[in-house]
Amino acid sequence: MDSFREPIGSWLRCYRCWSQELELQVHYEGIHRIDPITGERSEVVDEVQEAVVQCLDCLHDQPHLGFQNGRVEPIEDRWERMVAGTPWVASCTVTVDGDTVETCSGAGAAESLVYAAFGDHGTQEFFAHVRFHDHQEDQVVVHLLVELYARSLDEATQVLEDAARGILAITSLAEESRPPAAAPGGEHPH
Ligand SMILES: [Zn+2]
Repeated sequence: MDSFREPIGSWLRCYRCWSQELELQVHYEGIHRIDPITGERSEVVDEVQEAVVQCLDCLHDQPHLGFQNGRVEPIEDRWERMVAGTPWVASCTVTVDGDTVETCSGAGAAESLVYAAFGDHGTQEFFAHVRFHDHQEDQVVVHLLVELYARSLDEATQVLEDAARGILAITSLAEESRPPAAAPGGEHPH
């Protein structure tokens, strides 16, 4: 049995507006063998399931929540920081090997530059905006504006350092105010 340290209500809420009005979007793709007698699907050959939890009040995705075995669960190394934290905005550069950037022009360039800079944290958790990028010999310097959630300046810095997949240089890092909380209890007239 899993036992989470905190009661369920502390993490099962939107990290931005604390609303508990959440929605799960599940996309499932599976390849199954077919039972020749019954015609039912049987053995799984391959399956991919992607699930995203979204807040119905502020419409943001919830990267601190995952969906496993039929229930929503907190992502352990992320949820406390995001739910209890405040937004921090960093202006920074990440210098990465050019090989790690899949494409730096056209559609998909922004996403692949963000991914090269910060991996899954960049594409799933942070709000990352690529201002521009420079090529320096075999390296690419990605200039970004990043918003992330953390409980202190030190933690925000640490999160950026841990996520960076190259050499990180932070020009500025400032705390923003948290978006207004949803109405207590999240009551909606029906
Ligand atoms: Zn929300």
